[in-house]
Amino acid sequence: MVISLDQQQIQQVEEICANRGVRLTPQRRMVFQLICASKKASTAYELLEDLKKTEPQAKPPTVYRALDFLLEQGFIHRVESTNSFISCCIGNAHKHFSHLLICDVCGNVTEVQDDHLVSLLSKNAEQHGIHIANHVIESHGVCQTCCAKTKD
Ligand SMILES: [Zn+2]
Ligand SMILES: [Zn+2]
Repeated sequence: MVISLDQQQIQQVEEICANRGVRLTPQRRMVFQLICASKKASTAYELLEDLKKTEPQAKPPTVYRALDFLLEQGFIHRVESTNSFISCCIGNAHKHFSHLLICDVCGNVTEVQDDHLVSLLSKNAEQHGIHIANHVIESHGVCQTCCAKTKD
């Protein structure tokens, strides 16, 4: 298995964990690396299958616990509409809401952070008396690469 590591991203996450006094265990690190290695959003099942290649004893709870940790720390996002996971493109690990652009052909996910959009949604909700705790902002379509392919 070849994992193209984004060393800088891993290093940044290690530093944040050290600063927060939380432990990036080898399994959590491995799951994060697997998510980073894929431009496509990964499902828990896919992550487990990949993890088993290096850790044959890995079980579903291993992956779910690692995902919970990574979500909690803000290193990854859950793509709700496809129940899969992507690494956060910002990497600053502060809790934020982003707009996810999902290609339905190749599964690539692009994260867009637009504070105007988020505050507009929150404002609209407040006007109806709803105090927002979470936003799921996901758009589906076909990416440029896949568009170009179908034109050939
Ligand atoms: Zn993010
Ligand atoms: Zn695509």
